[in-house]
Amino acid sequence: MDFDFDDNLERKETAPCPVCGKHIKRGEMECLHCSYELTVFDIRHLKKYMKYQKRKGGWLAIKIVPVLIFILAFLFLLSN
Ligand SMILES: [Zn+2]
Repeated sequence: MDFDFDDNLERKETAPCPVCGKHIKRGEMECLHCSYELTVFDIRHLKKYMKYQKRKGGWLAIKIVPVLIFILAFLFLLSN
């Protein structure tokens, strides 16, 4: 069975197992840690999660630096 449409993106994509919470790689049919067999619904959910994580990762890198600077500046101003 093949749920992937782009196999070359598979490397870093993981999502937490619904049972044990450890990482499952994209394309795997069961959890390597607790051997829980993924259902079609689980797989759909995990794929959504992976997509979201990927997008969020990009945004985090862009957003987190200015936010940190802002918070530090704010704390600095408050402490004076
Ligand atoms: Zn598991």
